[in-house]
Formats: sequence, C-alpha cells, structure tokens
Amino acid sequence: MSLQPPPLRDDCFALPAGVDWTPVEEALAALRSRLRSVVGQEDVPLQAACGRILARDMHALRANPPLPNSAVDGYGFAFASLGEGDQCLPLCEGRAAAGLRFEGTVPAGQAIRILTGAALPAGVDTVILEEDVNASSSEVAFRAGVKPFANTRKAGEDVAEGAATVSQGRCLTPADLALLAATGQGVVPVFKRLRVAVLSTGDEIIAPGQAAQDGQIYDANRVMLLSLLEQMGFEPVNMGHVPDSREALKGRLDEAAGQADVILTSGGASAGDEDHVSALLREAGALQEWRIAVKPGRPLALAMWQGRPVFGLPGNPVAALVCTLVFARPAMGVLAGGGWSKPEGYSLPAAFEKRKKAGRREYLRARVRDGQVEVFASEGSGRISGLSWADGLVELPDGAAEIRLGDRVTFLPYSAFLA
Ligand code: AMP
Ligand code: MG
Repeated sequence: MSLQPPPLRDDCFALPAGVDWTPVEEALAALRSRLRSVVGQEDVPLQAACGRILARDMHALRANPPLPNSAVDGYGFAFASLGEGDQCLPLCEGRAAAGLRFEGTVPAGQAIRILTGAALPAGVDTVILEEDVNASSSEVAFRAGVKPFANTRKAGEDVAEGAATVSQGRCLTPADLALLAATGQGVVPVFKRLRVAVLSTGDEIIAPGQAAQDGQIYDANRVMLLSLLEQMGFEPVNMGHVPDSREALKGRLDEAAGQADVILTSGGASAGDEDHVSALLREAGALQEWRIAVKPGRPLALAMWQGRPVFGLPGNPVAALVCTLVFARPAMGVLAGGGWSKPEGYSLPAAFEKRKKAGRREYLRARVRDGQVEVFASEGSGRISGLSWADGLVELPDGAAEIRLGDRVTFLPYSAFLA
C-alpha cells in the first residue's frame, strides 16, 4: 500500500536531436509518454477525499437502492390483486416507513400506508400517490388506471451490487463521494498528494509588501503558482526565493528535491548571462531546453534534479502562468496518478479581431461576456493586470489565422486546467 514507485529516469526529458521549434501537441505528447505516477497511496475517510485522486477502481459493496422501495408517500398493494375499474381497498394494520421495515405480508386485495424510501413489504409491488386517493382509517379509494410498479424503485436500479462506480485516476468530486458512500464505502484508497516545490529566482526579486529599492521587482510568480497548485489539489511547497547565484540555487534545489516530488522554478531559464537556472541544470548534465512553438513562452527548461523533475518556467508572470497551465499541469497530473488531462474548451464567438502568422500556437488572456470572447487589450507579456482581468485563455491554432468579429474561437476557462 505504501510502496513508492521507482524514480523517473534522468534522461526522461531528452528530445530527439535536430528538433527545432516543437509544436505544442508534439511537446505535450512527449511529456505524456515520458512521465508516470511517482506518488504512493494511502487510505482516507470519504470526508477527507474531496479533490484527491482515486488510486483504484471502485465497485459497489452494496446495491443502490439496496431494496425495492417506495418513491413517494402513499399506499402500496399488489397490482395483480386489483379488479377492473375504480378501486376501494381495505387498509391492513401498520405502515411501512424508511428504516422501519414492515415485517408482515400485505394480503392480496389490501393496501398499506407507505412512506418515501420505505422498503416494499412482501405483497406490495405498486404504490399510489397519497394525493391521488381518498383515505379513511380503514380504506383507501382511487381511480382506475394505475400502472404496475408505479412509484416504486427496483433494488439496484441505480447501481447493482459489484458494479463499477468510480474509476482509478478520478479527481474525486462531492458527487463521487455521495456515490461511494451510497454504495458502501467509508474509506477510499487515494494517491498521496503530489508535493510541488515553487522557487523564484532573480537578483531583482523581493517579497511582496517589503520596501522596494529602484530596480527591485515584487515576487508575483510565487504566490500565483503556490495558490494555483493548491487549487489543482497538489501540495504546494514554498521554497522561497534565491538570487542569481549558482551556489544558492544549487543548495535550494537540493532542499526542494528533499521535500517535493516535482520542482517549479521561475526566472533565469533562458540562455542569458544571468540565467543561472538553465546554466546550473546544464552543468549538472540534466537540462533539456524544449523550444516549443508557443506564445507567450520562452524555451521551457526541463531537467531532473536528484531524481525530481524540474520545470524551469519563464520569469515573466504571463508566460509563467501559461506554461504552467498548458505544460506543467498535465505533466503534474500524470506524476500525481491522475493521468493525462486535456482542458475542455468552449467554442464561442470572438468579440475581437486578430490576424496571426503560421508557426506557433498563441494563448491570449480572455474572458467571456454576453456569450462572446473578449481578449485583453494588450498582448504585452509583462501585463500582469491582463492575467487578473481574464477568466481564461483563448487558444489560437498553430497555423495562420485571421479572426473576425463573430468567428468561433476556443476559450479555455482557467477552471478547465484545475481538475
Ligand atoms: P527572467 O526569466 O529571469 O529573464 O525574467 C523575465 C522577466 O520576468 C524579468 O522582467 C523579471 O524581472 C521578471 N520576473 C522574474 N521572476 C519574477 C517573479 N517571481 N515575479 C515577477 N516577475 C518576475
Ligand atoms: Mg532573471
């Protein structure tokens, strides 16, 4: 149960030589094929299982409903015992209520008072709604035309005993938990939460709220990424910030590898002089720079550090968020045991015009108003205000496109990346 899967191979991010700008779908397919679950399992009570990833296929320990029962408050009888035309049946003693089984048999030609959810007593297969009868303390009268089995539920009509309920890899929802509870489960096997370390880099970066000198920049990425990971159901591990020093970075990556299953860094991942993340990872021999044909985006630095996958995200908050949603999210889903996830987009009319060249996929900050997709006025990748303005992204295809008002575009709400 608590066995840990073996570590990923150090060369798991290697790309075939000679590949230049890799299309997004190819990059995603490569990530998908190279990664697998790295987390162990644990049993948790249902109450603690929302948002966790189910580790085994589940089956009903008990049928739902477990017994044939009444769907309404009314009067039960055997359909076959009814004569022709309007009915007047003597009432038998007692009543059937949920949780209070009527142990006797209702004689043919008689009826019994029955309440919603009550198991059908022996001798009852049909129920008439109380609003459709005239009843006294000893008789019940109703019109002809009742259908056999009316207002009853069959045992197992929802879920038969032993039937499949929820599949392995599912991120459990409140409704899943209701199904698991109803079918007899009190505890469920889930994958341990994927621990994701987040580390900001850069000499200019300082913590939000501190007094800032000229040239200093508040760390916007760390709080964004940590919160996003939390929303995704992972366990965020805050590794703080390191300046552009290879020694400091090395030490912090060592710590992160000890505390987390996967590491996200932001900043310092391009090929510039100050780009210590890529330099250090390259020196360690484990860096792969995936030049992905996507905007916004820099080369995505992928590496293994002490057996942990590292995603070297761009420093720019817009690019950092897009890369996390588009690439790191599905990769982390696999690492976490949830399998590969593709965000579900909506095809909606554009409230904007845009022309793009062929060669790379583009993601624009977008939101939906009155059923139409609006995009943020500036595509500038430093515009954090646009991330906040937006409710999601518009995904424009890799090829050339000329979008006119009212043309359909694919809108991906931020929430599509969460589950
Ligand atoms: P870099 O990828 O290190 O070249 O950084 C690209 C841009 O993103 C620079 O303008 C950085 O100042 C900025 N940046 C890097 N890290 C962060 C961060 N954690 N929060 C906000 N901006 C950042
Ligand atoms: Mg930097």
